[in-house]
Amino acid sequence: MESLYHIYRRRGYTRRDFLKSVLLLSAVLGFPPTSFGQAVKALELKPKPVVIWLEFQDCAGCTESFIRSTSILPSDVLLDYISLEYHETLMSPSGFYAEEAKREAIEKYKGKYILIVEGSVSPRNKGVYCTVSGKSNVELLKEAAQNAGLVIAVGSCASWGGIPHAEPNPTGAVPVSQILGDRQVVNIPGCPPISDVMVAVIAGFVITGKPPELDSMGRPKTFYGQTIHDRCYRRPFYNAGKLAGSFDDESARKGYCLYKLGCKGPITRNACATIRWNGGLSFPIQSGHPCFGCSEPNFWDRGFIYSPLSVVEGGFGWKGILAGVATGVALGAASAAINKKFREK
Ligand code: SF4
Ligand code: SF4
Repeated sequence: MESLYHIYRRRGYTRRDFLKSVLLLSAVLGFPPTSFGQAVKALELKPKPVVIWLEFQDCAGCTESFIRSTSILPSDVLLDYISLEYHETLMSPSGFYAEEAKREAIEKYKGKYILIVEGSVSPRNKGVYCTVSGKSNVELLKEAAQNAGLVIAVGSCASWGGIPHAEPNPTGAVPVSQILGDRQVVNIPGCPPISDVMVAVIAGFVITGKPPELDSMGRPKTFYGQTIHDRCYRRPFYNAGKLAGSFDDESARKGYCLYKLGCKGPITRNACATIRWNGGLSFPIQSGHPCFGCSEPNFWDRGFIYSPLSVVEGGFGWKGILAGVATGVALGAASAAINKKFREK
């Protein structure tokens, strides 16, 4: 089977293009510069990863995001690089032939393939609300996970339950990890997740043979170790207490912080502020829209997209997380005052 390097060359890209992608990948994964040689060697020699991609209660938005990777691997390379043995939306066979292809892949690549799950799982009433080829989603998930080398839950639906889990949750939707119990699941939440993050986790597994380091909620620390707020370029305005008052006033035009317009960046862990979207072009806050926390559990039930966190605390009840935010604003104002004093000295 071809390696990533062979695919680059076959697609007409140069070795320099390949090395640039490996360099970017290593940087995104937080590898030390000394491991660049190891990454190049692995992606030159190791065969492309075999992926079985299951979709349950989803909208296919995570798939849409995934196939639009541009900055780490160009999308034409990506679709060649990953040996997608089964993907209901992308594969051409259907019905019996599709299911047979999956069964064969599970058998042939036992213990080696990557299982990616998109969408939540519905165990209610024996899983009758989500079935494929006469089998319940619970059965399909357990069957495919049993022999997988790595299980990845992509998107907030697979990671936390997401939109199908929103009240009143008629199908009893739950995250993948809840069905698989002790089995390790790498959660890549987001609605959808950033394509480059999904690609990097897969390529990282090819390079190291191991899953990434995870936090207590199963998220790769490299991408979810910090909040949007920690890395937001509008943070100096927040620290200075300069908050936009509406979407079209002078403060918004000056690029002030979007906290008062409902930004959930202070409580949202994701890499949008660093990796950004569309080949690193932009992210919602850069386009003038507050973060609404799509990668956090229960984001949809929280609603109030345009209500500031401090208002939410009193009026709607995001519990346990908001006192810290209020303190943050106070600290920001205090640090601004101190900085001002220093500047005046
Ligand atoms: S996480 Fe969002 S984009 Fe992904 S399947 Fe669920 S609703 Fe669709
Ligand atoms: S509140 Fe939002 S816009 Fe303001 S600094 Fe934090 S993340 Fe950026």
